[in-house]
Amino acid sequence: MNQWTKTSAVLLALGLVTTSVPHDAQAGSDVAVQQQQMTEEDATAQLASQNMMGVAWYQNSAEAKALYAQGYNSAKEALDEQIKKHKGGKKLAIALDIDETVLDNSPYQAYNTLQGASFPDGWHEWVQSAQAKPVYGAKDFLKYADEHDVEIFYVSDRSHEEDLQATIKNLKQQGLPQSDEAHVLLKKEGEHGKTERRDRIKTEYRLVQLFGDNLLDFDEPKVATLEGRETFVKQHEDDFGSRYIIFPNPMYGSWEATLYNNDYSISAEQKSELRQSSITYFDPETQQLKQGAVK
Ligand SMILES: [Mg+2]
Repeated sequence: MNQWTKTSAVLLALGLVTTSVPHDAQAGSDVAVQQQQMTEEDATAQLASQNMMGVAWYQNSAEAKALYAQGYNSAKEALDEQIKKHKGGKKLAIALDIDETVLDNSPYQAYNTLQGASFPDGWHEWVQSAQAKPVYGAKDFLKYADEHDVEIFYVSDRSHEEDLQATIKNLKQQGLPQSDEAHVLLKKEGEHGKTERRDRIKTEYRLVQLFGDNLLDFDEPKVATLEGRETFVKQHEDDFGSRYIIFPNPMYGSWEATLYNNDYSISAEQKSELRQSSITYFDPETQQLKQGAVK
């Protein structure tokens, strides 16, 4: 039984309970509270199910693989240039985000969308299982960089305290080079963002390329709004495809947070409404473009 069916069954059962205790005010209010919670649970499940197409595209489209190939091919070309230009001094280094940049966590996203769950439900179990496969093209590119004496850093916001050993195990099992404690830099408790870790790499190495599926893998946009993030892209237009390599992720990311004004604590129903009002559609009747409105 999936989460959706299970929830419906529980609601049905609750309806029966309500009619069987009509004079018990306390029991009635308990049921009302439970029903309210179930409604939020249903809204959460509905919200999660909206991610089905994102996950299906990510897992099944050859186009997603082609985009990874495009990113890693461009990266190789740009890295070759850097290697050619390099005349001693600090050793060359590159820094890659892990999730949806090197490792494919879409089976975890698929769990969420099918079961009506949301991050961090089940994330720890997924990471500890160390079953993620590399994204298309990552392994070949990283082996190439390794063979050309480039230092490789994996800079990820996975938890240093909880996830380091399992992450290293996963990267190693998949044959990804330099996946050891010196090169896998996860987020320590109290740390904010990746800038500090990137700066640390720069003290010893010439950091020539950054890889990610999120703008934050490159730098922090000044303002974390849709406009602020677009300004960031405009400012760095010439970096993409050479110094910055970006990969596709329609399943989650900071782009989603901007829809909620960076507040994930709002209800599932509010999130759904904000998603809807963020999209622009063509109205065939008026021949006009309109903003998605909540009915
Ligand atoms: Mg990522």
